[in-house]
Amino acid sequence: MTRKEIINQIRQFFDIEELVCNHTFAKWGEASWQFLNTDYLHTLLVVRRDILQSPMTCNYSLMRQRGLRCNMCPLVQEKGSVYLSSHLLGKAGDFTVKSMTAEDARQKIRQNAHLLPHPIRMEEGVTWLHIDTLPQWCVEQKVYGFRA
Ligand SMILES: [Zn+2]
Ligand SMILES: [Zn+2]
Repeated sequence: MTRKEIINQIRQFFDIEELVCNHTFAKWGEASWQFLNTDYLHTLLVVRRDILQSPMTCNYSLMRQRGLRCNMCPLVQEKGSVYLSSHLLGKAGDFTVKSMTAEDARQKIRQNAHLLPHPIRMEEGVTWLHIDTLPQWCVEQKVYGFRA
């Protein structure tokens, strides 16, 4: 799939405001799609449409730092040392999945790893579904669980 096709399809499931912080959206609006990585968007499309097949919520109401984060985001500003989260690189999102716990969602993704177009990382032991496509150094697994 081309990047254009991926974005056209994923727009059936997500508005850009859900996937980027409020600061980014305020400045770039719809053009904010440009900051999201193609492998990440393709992976998110497959996870939403083919694997979980259930509504996924990223940013909502006052929660605005669950997708792309920028230098103005409080979560970023409060860091006292180098911070290069996949959330800053346009390769990550934290999701709530309708009618499913985060652990259920992680398990379903592991069981359907063959459908994923790219390797994926998931944060373990948290109540939200963090997925990202950072190609972590020396990690070969298709699905890699990490703890922050
Ligand atoms: Zn921000
Ligand atoms: Zn996260």
